[in-house]
Amino acid sequence: MATQIWHQVIRQHIDGVVDNPHVADLLRHWHQLRQDRARAPLALFHAERWRALHPRLMLLHREGDEFVYRHYGTEIARHSQGDMTGQRVSDFGGRLTDFFHASYRDALAHDQPLYTVHVSDRSLSVFTWERLILPLAAGDAPGEGGDWLLVYGHPLQMRHQLLESVLDATSDALLALRRVCDARGADLGWMGLVINPAFTEMFGLEVREVVGFLVRDVLAEWPALNIEAECLLTLQSRGHRAVTRVLLTSQHQLRYLDIQIRPLKDGVVISLTDATDLHEAQKRLRHLATTDALTGLGNRREFDDQLRLEVQRARRSGEPLALVMADIDAFKAYNDHWGHAAGDDCLRQFALILKSVFARELDVVARYGGEEFAVLLPGTGVEGALNLTERMLLRLRREALPHPASPVAPVVTASFGVATFQGTGDDGEVSLLRRADEALYQAKQAGRNQVCRAR
Ligand code: GH3
Ligand code: MG
Ligand code: MG
Repeated sequence: MATQIWHQVIRQHIDGVVDNPHVADLLRHWHQLRQDRARAPLALFHAERWRALHPRLMLLHREGDEFVYRHYGTEIARHSQGDMTGQRVSDFGGRLTDFFHASYRDALAHDQPLYTVHVSDRSLSVFTWERLILPLAAGDAPGEGGDWLLVYGHPLQMRHQLLESVLDATSDALLALRRVCDARGADLGWMGLVINPAFTEMFGLEVREVVGFLVRDVLAEWPALNIEAECLLTLQSRGHRAVTRVLLTSQHQLRYLDIQIRPLKDGVVISLTDATDLHEAQKRLRHLATTDALTGLGNRREFDDQLRLEVQRARRSGEPLALVMADIDAFKAYNDHWGHAAGDDCLRQFALILKSVFARELDVVARYGGEEFAVLLPGTGVEGALNLTERMLLRLRREALPHPASPVAPVVTASFGVATFQGTGDDGEVSLLRRADEALYQAKQAGRNQVCRAR
């Protein structure tokens, strides 16, 4: 069976389910006349009382297998495809012909009123129609013999109502704008056409404050959104554009907005999605993925990423780049002596000191693993790196974190290896790391609590 356009037929208790007073009135009158004469007469259509309803009425005459429109209400014609007077139901074409035929035959066969609702096939304005189908008795005049139907037809729901409810339910803020010009054709700006409740909520503006006004005059955030150029490009290229903007709200909150701009006939429709939560979640996730939880420094993954970037940059710019590897001395003994929790505290302390010594904005200080730390110093040569590391050794001596179990000193000490990027002949970050590590090993071998530079 072919799929049918949605429709519904009600035979019983029509007056109980329909709240259109015209339908109720027609129905009541039809029943009254029927009691008197067994069938309501064709004269019903001509009665003075129904004149006002004629724009909404159709009069149909059965001719063989067909029904011919003898009257076609102007209001119905306006909403559908014009005046059908004199034409057959089959001429209507479309996908509802079978349903119309079946409902008319049904009403005549049972000699009962029928109330139907169907989704419009082709009307651009009407979504659903309601109809009351009343079988009538033949008239006495010539040409009035045979079967007659009086059909009341009226739009039940308009498409624009439906679209409005969709706009109302949309969580994205929507703003439709039209490009307007003055009488000489000079551009005046963008005028508000449509906004939805999500837009009202996002910007605290009502429909009547936006529609018919230049958006730059009514939307305080318009300059900060900074999308006028994108709107113009969208309109000119008929393409679609997506941008992200950060907006400071009147409550001093930062909002991240994903903005889509699509062309209309002579304007654009802008949809704004509040992506703040998503953005914050991404930031938190990125932070978690790149940060060492114990010390708050960057982790090894973050350091390796930065190392790759800085080596590339140094290769391009010819600027020096130094890498310092640090390892706390006799840290196993520290843990054994003071306990693991104190060991953790020591690592935090060490991280703070390291950060305070290597404190330039471009310096990258990371926990490379366990009690091993790595520092990247862009723009710093070997002498600078050695100087800073000596300062770090001094700071550790001054901090004098007690370490009675250390064979090196009574306080926490560390060993350091320094290497620098060698320029074009160098094979990059792998070599830099290896040489810094080798220098650190040398510092350990040489008795710890000192710095060695790579060869
Ligand atoms: P060396 O002077 O040769 O560096 O000796 P070391 O004891 O410092 O080196 P080793 O590699 O033998 O021991 C490192 C210790 O660091 C062992 C390990 O339990 C400890 N450690 C690694 N990560 C953590 C941590 O997150 N917290 C604590 N408390 N200890 C850690
Ligand atoms: Mg160690
Ligand atoms: Mg170690």
